[in-house]
Amino acid sequence: MVALPGSGWPGDPADASTPVAGSRDEVEKLAGSADALSTVDARVSVCRACPRLVTWREGVAETKRRAYADEPYWGRPVPGFGAEHPGVLIVGLAPGAHGANRTGRNFTGDRSGEWLYASLHRCGLANQPTAVSAEDGLRLLGTRVVATVRCAPPDNKPTPAERDTCRPWLAREFELVWPSVRAVVVLGAFGWAGLWSAMRAMGMPIPRPVPKFAHGAEIALPDGRVVLGCYHVSQQNTFTGKLTEEMLDAVFIRAASLAR
Ligand code: SF4
Repeated sequence: MVALPGSGWPGDPADASTPVAGSRDEVEKLAGSADALSTVDARVSVCRACPRLVTWREGVAETKRRAYADEPYWGRPVPGFGAEHPGVLIVGLAPGAHGANRTGRNFTGDRSGEWLYASLHRCGLANQPTAVSAEDGLRLLGTRVVATVRCAPPDNKPTPAERDTCRPWLAREFELVWPSVRAVVVLGAFGWAGLWSAMRAMGMPIPRPVPKFAHGAEIALPDGRVVLGCYHVSQQNTFTGKLTEEMLDAVFIRAASLAR
């Protein structure tokens, strides 16, 4: 089952009157004219501009994983989650098929989220270490989490065209939260490229050449903000030991100190 706008899903930012983007041009128009974060959240959450991703996210929501067979799935684009005026902005890749695409909240309901929010809690950026549903009471403290691409993609791999189509949502969200942001933590190379691309779309100066992604990379922007690179909290990295809790905590401790 897919959660329809206005269906009573906890925290659903859209209602039946929210305009629906059905093409790249419409994404640009609706994102560009959104004058508040709540409007971006509502409009992005009903977007249908990428046919392959719409089919995939809704197909996953219909078929479901056996463990969640009795649960409704969100099955829609996932808006940003957290503070409206964040000091720390976290940029991920895309919603997980049975995590955020199920619960409707970024990094919620899967192993990646278990790692991320436990670390944020240890570092003073979340009120609790767990994230299981949109109604679990989790609050991010001065922190916001966004995805570069807002729909769950097959194999966690959006195409370049899908990334580009989704970029206006990311760029507009950046513009609206940027005044308070002091540190941007980017999880993985896909989000790293997405960040610079969105900043370019916003007309902001970016370093030349564009810095390469690396875990532990720290890029100071001319305006004093700092971009931090971090391996993605995917199971590929956490199960293999490529990313440890200590490594993750070190990045968020640094981000929290920059935001203070
Ligand atoms: S990926 Fe982005 S642009 Fe494409 S349908 Fe989802 S929300 Fe819309």
